[in-house]
Amino acid sequence: MASLLTFEEAQERVLAAVAPLPVELVPIAEAGGRVVAEDVQARVDLPPFASSAMDGFAVRAADLPATLSIAGESAAGSPFAGRLEPGTAAAISTGAVVPTGADTVVPVERVVVKDNKVEISTQPEAGANVRPRGGDTAVGDLVVSAGSQLTAARIAAAAASGIAALPCARRPRVAVLATGSELVAPGEALREGQIYESNTVMLGSALAGSGAEVEPFAPAADDEEALRRALEQGLAADVLVTSGGVSVGEHDLVRAVERELGVEEVFWRVAMKPGKPISFGVRGKTLVFGLPGNPVSALVGCELFVKPALRALQGLTDPLPRFEPGRLSTEVRRDAERDEFLRAGSRVDGDSVVLEPVTGQESHMIVRSSAADALVYVPRGNGELAAGSVVRWLPLGG
Ligand code: AMP
Ligand code: MG
Repeated sequence: MASLLTFEEAQERVLAAVAPLPVELVPIAEAGGRVVAEDVQARVDLPPFASSAMDGFAVRAADLPATLSIAGESAAGSPFAGRLEPGTAAAISTGAVVPTGADTVVPVERVVVKDNKVEISTQPEAGANVRPRGGDTAVGDLVVSAGSQLTAARIAAAAASGIAALPCARRPRVAVLATGSELVAPGEALREGQIYESNTVMLGSALAGSGAEVEPFAPAADDEEALRRALEQGLAADVLVTSGGVSVGEHDLVRAVERELGVEEVFWRVAMKPGKPISFGVRGKTLVFGLPGNPVSALVGCELFVKPALRALQGLTDPLPRFEPGRLSTEVRRDAERDEFLRAGSRVDGDSVVLEPVTGQESHMIVRSSAADALVYVPRGNGELAAGSVVRWLPLGG
C-alpha cells in the first residue's frame, strides 16, 4: 500500500494532463463564474470625470464660509453648462459632474437654501466630497487578471471599465456515467437487491457548479457490451466521469473496457480514505475519471480530482482546492497508510473553526455525509489526533 500515490501526487498527475480549453468571447452578461483567459484592461478612467459623492452644492472651497448665489444645477447625466464663477454655487447630485471651477461639494444637510441663494457656514477642505477622475482605476490599468474567476464584483469591475465581452475558455463538456447493474432511478419501484442511483445527480450538480456543461447518461449495467457503448459515447466529451466498477471485483469492468477503447491509464488507486480505488486516464484530449461507486467515495474523488481538473481546463490560476485551518472537536484515530477525509460539521468558535465529524463515516453513508459542510483532512500516521488539534479542511458545499 505504501507504493500507492498520495492524493497530492495524484492531483499533480491530473493537472499535468490538463491543457486549457480554447478561448471564446463571452458577452459580459453571461460571463459570471467563467474564468477570464487574458488580462482585462480599463477602457476608461473610473470615474470618467470628477464627480460628486453627495447631493449638495458644488463650490470653490476658497469662497467659504459665505452665502452664494445658485448659478444652476449639475444632475447625474446632465452636467452644469459652463464654468462655475467665484461667489456662486451649483446644485449637484451624487454621481454628477463637478463643474469646472468648483473643487468641493457641501452636502445638502449642511446648508440653508433661501431665495436662490445657499448659505454655507462651514469651511470644508478643498476636494471634500469630490471623487477625482480615475480615482478607482485609470484607462489601461489592469482590472481583472488572466486566470481569475469572474465573481460578481469582477464582472461589475469589467462592465464599469467599459468591457462588453470577455475572453474565456469554453466550458468543459462533462459526461457523467453511473455504472452498476443494481442501480434504479428514483421514482421507480425497487426490486430485491436494487438501490436508488444517486451518483449521477450528485456529480452533475457538483460539476455544473464548477462550470461544466454536464451531459448525464443513463446508468450502464456491469456488462461489457453495455459499458462499451456508453463509454464510447462518453469519451466524446472533454471529461468523462464514471462511478462504480473500478474496484477489484469480478464485475468491475470499467477500466478494462476503457483500456480496450484506447484510454491510457495514468493512475489507479490512491492512498486515501474514502475513495482508494479511483482511476484516472486520458484518451486524446479527453480526461477520464473512474470514481468508486460508493457515493461518499465518489463525492470525495470529485472534490479532490474532478473539480480541480475542471478549473484547470477553464484556465484558473489556482485550480487546487484551498484547505483552511480549523480544530477538531473530538479525538480522531488516524489511518496508518491512507490519508483520510472525514465529513464534518463546522462552526465558528472564537477565532477558530471547530470541526465535528458526523457520526457514520462509512463510504456508503451519503445521508450521514449530507449533514456535513466540511471535509477534514486527517494525514495518515500512527495513533490519534487529540481533540483541539489543528487540522486542514475544505468547505463542502457546491
Ligand atoms: P462499486 O464501486 O461498483 O463496487 O460500488 C460500490 C458501492 O457503491 C456498491 O454498494 C454500489 O451498489 C454502490 N453504488 C455504485 N454506484 C452507485 C450509484 N450510482 N448510486 C448509489 N450507489 C452506488
Ligand atoms: Mg458496481
